[in-house]
Amino acid sequence: MNPSIVNGIESGTASMSARRQARAPRKATWLALALTLACAAMPAQAEWVRRVTDGVMGTRITVELWAENQDKGNQAIDAVLAEMRHIDDTMSTYKPTSEVSQVNAHAADGPMHISKELFDLLTTARQYSEITDGAFDITYASVGYMYDFRKHIRPDDEQIAKALPAINYRHVILDPANQTVRFSQKGVRIDLGGIAKGYSVDRGIEVLKALGYTRAYVGAGGDSRIIGDRFGKPWIVGIRDPRKGEGNVIARIPLVDAAISTSGDYERFFEENGVRYHHIIDPHTGHSASKVESATVIGPYATRTDGLSKTAFVLGPEKAMEIYNRLDDIDAIIVKLDGTIVYSKGMQRARQTQPP
Ligand code: ADP
Ligand code: MG
Repeated sequence: MNPSIVNGIESGTASMSARRQARAPRKATWLALALTLACAAMPAQAEWVRRVTDGVMGTRITVELWAENQDKGNQAIDAVLAEMRHIDDTMSTYKPTSEVSQVNAHAADGPMHISKELFDLLTTARQYSEITDGAFDITYASVGYMYDFRKHIRPDDEQIAKALPAINYRHVILDPANQTVRFSQKGVRIDLGGIAKGYSVDRGIEVLKALGYTRAYVGAGGDSRIIGDRFGKPWIVGIRDPRKGEGNVIARIPLVDAAISTSGDYERFFEENGVRYHHIIDPHTGHSASKVESATVIGPYATRTDGLSKTAFVLGPEKAMEIYNRLDDIDAIIVKLDGTIVYSKGMQRARQTQPP
């Protein structure tokens, strides 16, 4: 089992505020002792500081941390948000001046020198394409850029067929010696929307660790990471029921020192003639990848869980679960199209440890 999942998993449909409703641990004596020790080590005014910010990276950012006092906690949260704004400025395809937009405009003309940060993330993205048999592919954007889910715009079959050959992660040629990127053909576009939020969460956690924080939660949209616990209790992350409103959860996962990413077909979508068009694209077809309703991946880093959470949509629950089960540090929960839930091997064991 993934060591980051503690105390088993609770299934249910009750409405809840994610993370806040930690269940009473069974080992009450140990908990009391842990709390006593923890309290003894706390500075007098130490407290949880929490802020929710909308609009950075086009999503909701939540940061919560255990800080010496409000002021220090807020300064640390400012530093996390500054780091995320920097990542957004570098990676957003909505910003024509971003480094990624520049790459899209020029990399088909020849090798382009890029920042180490972008080069490293492109290298990581390629690894996830390899791990997922090409289900994760940042060149999905070669077709993906023609969708606008807010405006209900989608490419027609002819447009897709024309652009489809440009989708293939192998078209992105990385040269580590010169730190350059080149596209092997015209029409290739990249978009890091499938990994940049997870990456920004990991960067946010690094910023907090560098400032000395040991208990914190950083979340960006569907990607979150936790360091430490809540004084003897795990953090509780709720997984939303894909067909019900926010607050309806199908499972509550107790986590310590872990990252969790959920991809859902309900995040950005529109329906036309009974077909749901949503923001995860099958690189093989250029159409929305619709083989599951949601996929949640748990692992050590949010970049990793984000890079893996789209796989189930493209490959389907069986093939995706095979990949997740092969990865020692990964657990997963998939909601299939018929609403049934499948768990990775480690999660099945965690469920068996549940109290009656
Ligand atoms: P969120 O953006 O809420 O974190 P996801 O983690 O599910 O949601 O990522 C969805 C995003 O991934 C899409 O908006 C798009 O930018 C990107 N994407 C879509 N299809 C793919 C794919 N096949 N491979 C990699 N990234 C993809
Ligand atoms: Mg994500």
